[in-house]
Amino acid sequence: MNFEDLQLAPAIVSAVRDLGYETPTPIQVEAIPLVLAGNDLLGGAQTGTGKTAAFTLPMLQRLSEGAPATRGQVRSLVLCPTRELAAQVEESVQQYGKNLKMSSAVIFGGVGMNPQIQRLQKGVDVLVATPGRLLDLHGQGALDLSQVEILVLDEADRMLDMGFIHDVKKVLALLPEHKQSLLFSATFSDEIRDLAGRLLHDPKQVQV
Ligand code: AMP
Repeated sequence: MNFEDLQLAPAIVSAVRDLGYETPTPIQVEAIPLVLAGNDLLGGAQTGTGKTAAFTLPMLQRLSEGAPATRGQVRSLVLCPTRELAAQVEESVQQYGKNLKMSSAVIFGGVGMNPQIQRLQKGVDVLVATPGRLLDLHGQGALDLSQVEILVLDEADRMLDMGFIHDVKKVLALLPEHKQSLLFSATFSDEIRDLAGRLLHDPKQVQV
């Protein structure tokens, strides 16, 4: 199995090859076709399994098939528990998408809001964010999430362990009903299953 066999576009395959990836990891083999086909996904995966590429590569491909973000628009949202993870995911988005005309941004707390507000005004194809700052920016009127096409909850269990459940639910309420949703978690408590049950429609499950 190689990346071409997963029906990924040449522009994406060449970006992963440039990173030295030769073969897709098990979660990539399982998840990429399901996400490309438009399914909601419940993914059981620890960090280190290649899960970032498992959701980012097909997400970028689907987004690249539509029109780029217009002013103020957010086309996809990746929610992460920490600023470190958010920064790392956005860096991966940039690397995997380097041959595509795709814009990305990362927002998290603890830094000034104004540069983030200015960045959001331009429109973003992939926004990676922590929940608290995302809600703050929404409260400032700096953010329109009504046109999000794809949502990823990354490390959902950590997000809940850190007490972000209310923030996550508030963010979900700002998103359109019709979208593709992907939820990744290393563990599955009742709370995660409850969240997944509310968010995901007829999800496919992958576990590595
Ligand atoms: P992640 O689980 O997404 O945090 O990825 C863990 C590490 O594996 C990162 O350093 C990635 O760059 C790397 N990685 C992801 N997919 C592959 C692959 N198919 N081949 C080699 N390395 C990979």
